Amino acid sequence: MIDLKIDGHVHTTFCHHAIGTMEEYVVYAMARGLSKVIFLEHLEVGINYPESTWLTGDDFEKYFQEGRRLQQKYRGDIEVGLGVEVGYNPERREEIRDFLTGYKWDRVGISYHYMEIEGRHYNVVSRKPYSLDALAGQGVDKVVSRYLRTLREAVEFLPGNVLCHLDAVMRYHPAIAFDQQHLVLVGELFEAMVAREMALEINTSGYLIRGGPFPALNFIRQAQAMGLPLVAGSDAHRPEDVGRFFDRLLEINHQRNNG
Ligand SMILES: [Zn+2]
Ligand SMILES: [Zn+2]
Repeated sequence: MIDLKIDGHVHTTFCHHAIGTMEEYVVYAMARGLSKVIFLEHLEVGINYPESTWLTGDDFEKYFQEGRRLQQKYRGDIEVGLGVEVGYNPERREEIRDFLTGYKWDRVGISYHYMEIEGRHYNVVSRKPYSLDALAGQGVDKVVSRYLRTLREAVEFLPGNVLCHLDAVMRYHPAIAFDQQHLVLVGELFEAMVAREMALEINTSGYLIRGGPFPALNFIRQAQAMGLPLVAGSDAHRPEDVGRFFDRLLEINHQRNNG
């Protein structure tokens, strides 16, 4: 069962592409009747990309300071979790792991946003031609396979609790499709997650982007069949998006009860 009282994935102005202070997200989460909100700020290391969509080391210091203040201030009203959405970079994975061990995180969400091609990185979930065209030039199929294999490596290497964005790769490309070979890779990824007692994130931003959850229902069913816990995240980049579409997740919980 997904706990619909916990939004386990929100961002703030710290990442340069979201709006709202940490406190504004906490206040919205309380207004939504949530028992807990977990910040999952972006960490990336060694990414060669025209803009920064992640926090610096200094930002993470400030993030923890402010987060601890909010934990105290709202104690008894709502729990505030301080987590990280770590973007995997196979070339810099030791550095990433070292950074992670420097803090006590309430959640480490594993993502893989930036894929390297000839020394530059491209965002696999972007709709902008800069990334989409460069990645499509490699073959959409190959990008999906590389994405899933690399995610599995990330799961095996990093101390993660939750896997984010399972099927977000190339989601804005018209030719995106998961074939049989991709499904095998997803199964292997899930096995690696089971071995590490990780959960799969159900990201409700999908209801806005494509009218259903991320990942798609068939992947959710497969995860449930393999015994993977599911956790909900709104991926809010604005305070008013905290807990968005969580009522739709009742459907997933309900169907589980029935069979
Ligand atoms: Zn973001
Ligand atoms: Zn996110």
